[in-house]
Amino acid sequence: MPEGKPQTVLVVEDETSIASFVALYLKNAGYEVRTAATGADALVKAAGDVSLIILDLMLPDIDGIEVCKRVRQRSDVPVLMLTARDEDVDKIIGLEVGADDYLTKPFNPRELVARVKSILRRAAPDKRSLESAQLRHGDLVIDAGRREVRVGEQEIQLAPKEFDLLWELLDHKGLVLTRDQLLERVWGYTFAGDTRTVDVHVRQLRRKLGDASPIVTVWGVGYKVAPARDAVNA
Ligand code: CA
Repeated sequence: MPEGKPQTVLVVEDETSIASFVALYLKNAGYEVRTAATGADALVKAAGDVSLIILDLMLPDIDGIEVCKRVRQRSDVPVLMLTARDEDVDKIIGLEVGADDYLTKPFNPRELVARVKSILRRAAPDKRSLESAQLRHGDLVIDAGRREVRVGEQEIQLAPKEFDLLWELLDHKGLVLTRDQLLERVWGYTFAGDTRTVDVHVRQLRRKLGDASPIVTVWGVGYKVAPARDAVNA
């Protein structure tokens, strides 16, 4: 149970049966819960004091993708998306939308609560945001204080978890990190979770960074950062 003042989770879902059982599990876990059944109501409530948003993709008015985009324009509040289809996942996690994590329906409410706890633990003031650390890799520069990524002069827009994943890999240059290790370090899972979210984020990072992507797949194990290209010829 969270310490001190309960954290507030906004549950955005038009199916009342799902919204109420999600709310029940979250309340039992010690969270304050607000609900919204439409995208418009979600945007109003998201402007309040909310620690995390659980956002269904299919809503009657403004869809979850649009809601997430609009929330992201003004806030870094963590967003956990609910989706009925796996094929939406790349888009949800991607630049345009920027959700932190997702669950595919039908989901186990205990898993939902575990994810919420993990995300909120990670969303607590991050040691990295207080530092002015920078990591470099060839033309790629990532700045923890500003949460900025550049390739040469060009700034690359990354979703929050893409940034954290890239940092974690660069911070362990040369070491192979398994998908479970990455889940634990970047998403805060303390159980063996669904590692597809790692693969989806890596795919997005590669797409956005193009040739500057330093991430190497180690088949059957996980990922690592390759030596910088300028170091290869050195
Ligand atoms: Ca729905």
